[in-house]
Amino acid sequence: MTDHHDSKIAYLVEQLEDLKANNLFNRIRTIESPMDGRVVIDGRRILNFCANNYLGLANHPRLKDAAKRAIDEFGIGPGAVRTIAGTTSLHDRLEQRLAEFKHAEAVVTLQSGFTANLATIPALVGQSDVIFSDRLNHASIIDGCRLSRAAIVAYEHGDPADLRRKIAESTEYSRRLIITDGVFSMDGDIAPLPELVEIAEEYQILLMVDDAHGEGVLGRGGRGIVDHFGLHGRVDVEVGTMSKAFGVVGGIVAGKRTIIDWIKQRGRPFLFSSAMTIPDAAACLEAVELLEASDDLVQCLWHNTELMKREMQALGFDIGSSATPIIPLMLGEAALAQEFSRRLFEAGVFAMAIAYPTVPKGKARIRVMNTAAHTPQDLEEALTAFQHVGRDLGVIG
Ligand SMILES: *Cc1c(COP(=O)(O)O)cnc(C)c1O
Repeated sequence: MTDHHDSKIAYLVEQLEDLKANNLFNRIRTIESPMDGRVVIDGRRILNFCANNYLGLANHPRLKDAAKRAIDEFGIGPGAVRTIAGTTSLHDRLEQRLAEFKHAEAVVTLQSGFTANLATIPALVGQSDVIFSDRLNHASIIDGCRLSRAAIVAYEHGDPADLRRKIAESTEYSRRLIITDGVFSMDGDIAPLPELVEIAEEYQILLMVDDAHGEGVLGRGGRGIVDHFGLHGRVDVEVGTMSKAFGVVGGIVAGKRTIIDWIKQRGRPFLFSSAMTIPDAAACLEAVELLEASDDLVQCLWHNTELMKREMQALGFDIGSSATPIIPLMLGEAALAQEFSRRLFEAGVFAMAIAYPTVPKGKARIRVMNTAAHTPQDLEEALTAFQHVGRDLGVIG
């Protein structure tokens, strides 16, 4: 029996065919090498501008060594959730060092940034409460909000004035929480956190920022968005991830000790899903030590980013208004972005086309993710490829 004849899942067959017909079907590429500035795909070694590996730590010798040493000492799996038998001295040390690094009162780590949001939001608010959420917040924030059962009021993206209006209109709730992404991953813009802090303080509302793309990128030595704006102690909760700039996998919740203590009592992915694995925890810990000791990688990331922005603009590309290493190369129509990405791939550059429904119709783009893993020669080769494809497709002169 083929799936076409299995009536229980016929609706899925149909929906998959729909996706394919509308060019929305995700074709997943397989990487055949370590994550780095260049990766092997389909047997070809090509330049990689798709990864969130901002600092090049995903294949860093120090992190790999730390993970191997930890495996020899502690094994692989945690064997339990954190609250039963899954907390090792490595997990404790990681949280202590992260708190010191970020100048936060306390930190709890989770298995991922996604689960960090699912642990945090429903622990803070519930049925009779309200969440004010930036319209472009990440899917994991949206899911965390839904799980909390609080009312969700979306305010216009990055718009403190609209947030004020929405707060004034929503008076029937008991507890209130404002949530924003720190860096918005499709445009690379940064949330207006100082204004949000002022509003939160004025109205006595809890404030949470999810700094997944700012962790290891923004702030002094990569200490994140709260450090970037000098807002220590004024943002109640800062969620982050160790899956992007930190090059490993894992979630962070940093903030007031009372809030962290509460998440350890009530955060469901903390209570009911096993702890981070030993090699993950050890590699994350090594990433923190590396960043504490030197900001060389963060400097290199920003140097590469500035160079790419400058040169892309000089070539005549519209690169939107990014304030971070995420460069959106604005192309307009989805078909053009797809074709641009396909030709880049042929020319040896892996960079993703992003179109509706991920971004609005008519705002399709190539998203160029810059990292410290790229050498000057990588950038030069990439720019040459962007120029050729841009000319061939009539995007630049
Ligand atoms: C990537 C991302 C996450 C998910 O982080 P993972 O560690 O990959 O689960 C959560 N929030 C935001 C804003 C993100 O960009």
